[in-house]
Amino acid sequence: MPAHILGEPLVQLRSNPDGPSTRGGHRLQSIATCEMHWFLRYVLGCREVFPKPWLVQGTLFHLCAAYYYAEQLVRLPDWALERTLTQRMRDVCPHIEEWRQGAVDCFAAYKREHENEPFRAIAVEVERWATLGELGHPDHHLRDELVTCKNDLEVALPETGEIGIVDFKTQALHGSSFPSAVDGAWRIDWQAAYNLTITRAHYRREGIKEPVRGFMIVRATRKPPFKFDRSVVPVAQGIYTQVPGLVALALENENRLLASLRRREKPRRDGVLRGACYSRYGACEFAGVCSAPSVEAKKSELETNFVRHDTGIKL
Ligand code: SF4
Repeated sequence: MPAHILGEPLVQLRSNPDGPSTRGGHRLQSIATCEMHWFLRYVLGCREVFPKPWLVQGTLFHLCAAYYYAEQLVRLPDWALERTLTQRMRDVCPHIEEWRQGAVDCFAAYKREHENEPFRAIAVEVERWATLGELGHPDHHLRDELVTCKNDLEVALPETGEIGIVDFKTQALHGSSFPSAVDGAWRIDWQAAYNLTITRAHYRREGIKEPVRGFMIVRATRKPPFKFDRSVVPVAQGIYTQVPGLVALALENENRLLASLRRREKPRRDGVLRGACYSRYGACEFAGVCSAPSVEAKKSELETNFVRHDTGIKL
């Protein structure tokens, strides 16, 4: 394994069921969308003290799914041995019992509907990595840099034994305007193409001959009446060929931004130009920071509403 991410000692790849991917698609998208967002989130490691309710509820549902499918594995993952589902749900949502119970009820309904699933879980909440060279840029000067993705669930498909990636999405209402396989939104296509490309590189490296066949979205409503659907994401072939180039651009951009931070230059708030401050998903989590009227007010906003996590990036 290459010894560096961003020139720093290798960050231990995480595989907590409620943790983010180390250098995943969201981070690469953040670099492409807003330098300030990338700086606050992925360099300073700022996370909201009180994340948006739908994010917490989504994480709770993911935890229920993770522990359920972990039971099907040959060996329980370390995170399942270290803490129980109940403990981890309390870590994520210590105060609102109704949300915890809502996720449990929702997943119970999902299990009833999919009692006889045709596939077998082979990996749960696992982080996969690949170098840019493995993704298709063997001669690039950043060929040894790692990118990662985290898959909710990897399964062996019936009969062929091919591997499939399953991604859970929760939403408020069935049929609400959610990026889905149905509308083939770029957001999903990018995530599917990106995760598939990295996961394929992983299995190739491991010498596993079964191909990673596709990416399936399972959508669930968070509140009764619970509804679920599943669909295989059709990934436009053009996006596959673009993934290595997009990743290379993002890595180059990130290294350029890190160099400029080391020269004491400030990250730009260019999300303003790209409509990222207020999008269809609501306000950016840092909107209060960016719109604060003074440096003191920005600092106060950051100190009050965010906690810092170590990102391993040193300036
Ligand atoms: S509020 Fe806008 S400018 Fe500020 S970090 Fe978010 S996207 Fe960037």
